[in-house]
Amino acid sequence: MENLELLIDLHIGGSRQGPGGEDETRLAIELSGLKQQSALKVADIGCGTGASTLVLASELDAEVTAVDFLSQFLSKLRDDATQVGLDGRIHTCEASMEALPFEDGELDGIWSEGAIYSMGFESGIQAWRRFLKPGGIIAVSELTWLTDARPDALTSHWNNEYPEVGTASDKIAVLERLGFAMLGYFPLPARCWMDNYYDPMRQRFSDFLERHGNSTAASELVTAEENEIALYESNQAFVSYGYYIARKVV
Ligand code: SAM
Repeated sequence: MENLELLIDLHIGGSRQGPGGEDETRLAIELSGLKQQSALKVADIGCGTGASTLVLASELDAEVTAVDFLSQFLSKLRDDATQVGLDGRIHTCEASMEALPFEDGELDGIWSEGAIYSMGFESGIQAWRRFLKPGGIIAVSELTWLTDARPDALTSHWNNEYPEVGTASDKIAVLERLGFAMLGYFPLPARCWMDNYYDPMRQRFSDFLERHGNSTAASELVTAEENEIALYESNQAFVSYGYYIARKVV
């Protein structure tokens, strides 16, 4: 089995594919000011199985386009949306975040939880900006250093995995340089990593390994995830996802 298929199989059983939480999505929505508006068009980029999409569709008077390049995740999102009666407000779109099918100035809001790293924070903000109306909202969560100094092992792991990792002030400077005015920033609390993401994933490891006959590739994937969890557990004072909410100025 290809590594991508293994990754999909490990992650499709979770309600989310990265750290986050419904309360945190709601807080970002509050900070965005979009709740006071109606007939909105919002996109959720790199939506996975749609943890944030479902919150956006239930909290906002909006048509939400959920974008991901993995059809399996989108299919699960469609099933879940139907089950909770939100299918009329959610459209799924199988596309790359690097080639989004929106018109310039079409969107009131762009959401993206734990996915913009795939393009890089700065490239993603720069590329997606044009799809927003003047005054439109960008709300993204992104791996963020919580302090200026950190243990070396943590710094070298994440610099290797994601060289654009930085502090909140680095990320805010990017947003301001690209013509956004900050509305809010908050770091995700540890329960968004442990209770909502890592612990449920850990509980899926043994069934996952059994399904794949303890293959080398499946075992290596589990080991890599276990190492990442251990690194997070011992360094959670220094790193999290930051949630950035900003308004396109003109
Ligand atoms: N937002 C979801 C969540 O928080 O549960 C998923 C986060 S997961 C870490 C990243 C998501 O981005 C995955 O669903 C992945 O398929 C999607 N993704 C990664 N690169 C992508 C790309 N170039 N275009 C579209 N989707 C992409």
